[in-house]
Amino acid sequence: MNYIVLDLEWNQCPYGKDREVKDIPFEIIEIGAIKLNSDKEQIGEFSRLIKPNVYKELHFHTQNMLSLTMKELRKGDSFSKVMGDFLKWCGTDYIFCTWGSTDLTELQRNMKYYRMEPLAEGPFKYYDIQKIFTMVFEEDKKVCRSLEYAVDHLKILKANIFHRAKEDALYTVRVMQHMRFSDMERYYSIDTYQRPKNRKSEVYALFENYSKYISREFSSKEEAMADREVSSTRCYLCGKNARKKIRWFTGNGKMYLCQAYCQHHGFMRGKIKMKKTETGRFFVVKTLKLVSEEDAGLVKIKQEEVRRKRREKRKNQSKNP
Ligand SMILES: [Zn+2]
Repeated sequence: MNYIVLDLEWNQCPYGKDREVKDIPFEIIEIGAIKLNSDKEQIGEFSRLIKPNVYKELHFHTQNMLSLTMKELRKGDSFSKVMGDFLKWCGTDYIFCTWGSTDLTELQRNMKYYRMEPLAEGPFKYYDIQKIFTMVFEEDKKVCRSLEYAVDHLKILKANIFHRAKEDALYTVRVMQHMRFSDMERYYSIDTYQRPKNRKSEVYALFENYSKYISREFSSKEEAMADREVSSTRCYLCGKNARKKIRWFTGNGKMYLCQAYCQHHGFMRGKIKMKKTETGRFFVVKTLKLVSEEDAGLVKIKQEEVRRKRREKRKNQSKNP
């Protein structure tokens, strides 16, 4: 299997958000990629400009960041042409590697806009090198570092400019070469631009110390939360149902928490991220994690906080009718 290390440059509406084309807020103007074999040795490269079709001027942000002009871009080919060539170049047996998760989202959104065949039938595995960099090299696992930060941190030679697709892909390769295969495998990501189409194709992934489930789509949050599979808390070590001690609750309707207990493996914390699709439907990403009693207690604290806020809100409403 080959690695396709991908980087995109894109433009956005130069006249502000309210005049953007909703189906394509970010128009891809350059695709750059490096192909590596399974030993992370470079075996190919891809670099193409795309002729702008939706936004015919550069947004000031794009202009400042990118060393590209409209005149140069106009020499590029159409997105469909470049993307078609790119997919041919990728071959059949590969996995994407990107800096962050947004490139794959925007790539698929652009493909959809031009009515191209979807990249995949449903969710697919890829490596988010930015995330893996944080997990391997940073103390704080919540930080998001720029590619240039990672390059500096690892003392990689800065021979090229940043913010051109092929050059950024190449820097991403250099960062990747500081990672062990086992690190990459441990922290792999799942792209969910295409949701599971039905119950049978829902995703169950097991990581080192937690499990992840990606549901099919539902028409409402309530319908999603009422689904037995969504609300279940099966222990990922023994497969037995861990009994809920605190049922699913939410403060903002975006993140839900619960606490469960497996007879054999102890306390478990459940977390559901409620995701809204472009068509206004919902799907969930649920993670279950075996935790210490102390960490499980945090769920209780959070629940009390949510209840307190709700009481206060109600009190204020009755005060000011
Ligand atoms: Zn168990």
